[in-house]
Amino acid sequence: MLGPPGAGKGTYASRLNTILGVPHISTGDIVRDEIKAQTELGKKIKKYSDKGELVPDEIIIQLLKERLEKPDCGKGFILDGFPRTISQAEALDKISNIDVVLNLNVPDEIIVTRLSNRVTCRKCGAIYNLLTLKPKREGVCDNCGGELYQRHDDNPDVIKERLNVYREKTQPLIDYYKKKRLLKDVWCKDLMTPPETVVEKILEILGETGKN
Ligand code: ADP
Ligand code: ZN
Repeated sequence: MLGPPGAGKGTYASRLNTILGVPHISTGDIVRDEIKAQTELGKKIKKYSDKGELVPDEIIIQLLKERLEKPDCGKGFILDGFPRTISQAEALDKISNIDVVLNLNVPDEIIVTRLSNRVTCRKCGAIYNLLTLKPKREGVCDNCGGELYQRHDDNPDVIKERLNVYREKTQPLIDYYKKKRLLKDVWCKDLMTPPETVVEKILEILGETGKN
């Protein structure tokens, strides 16, 4: 899944995980878990993530490699938040075969509104939105009863920086995958479009490419 922060990568990927039965691998979640566990590596990468900057390629590539080696990836996987740079994409080409790249197109206004209203479950990582995708009980996860919190990189200054980083470092991947004929565009122009509608479009695309 390719797209700017707040495009819905995590939301759609977690639904596709349930439908397709292949793991949803979010490098953002891997980074946050590492920070939460306060490992040496976690301490090192916190300073990047706090500012909305990318964690250095060598580190994130290593973390992803370790994740892809786990047995549940044998029948496929959905990547969310990786690759984010050309050099990550080249590394990925060496360790795996990517079938389809879904490029989520979302206008900037929607992104900022979405991210400022996003809350995440501390326990299971489920994503909610206080405007469009409210939990049934305020502050409590529908899935697991866990506490909902606002990510501290979801504040206006850090959001702006993450969008800058996306344009500079990640957007070039659109051409990279276009050239490989793997890119499929998905559009979401309306803040109120329910995730199910976009997921349906994605399943259609996967059907057409024979990857469903
Ligand atoms: P977003 O909502 O901005 O897509 P993520 O949850 O995917 O955010 O990632 C959160 C943070 O984790 C990023 O700002 C970055 O610091 C780090 N990170 C996640 N994936 C990568 C990656 N592939 N390369 C470098 N840094 C990453
Ligand atoms: Zn939960």
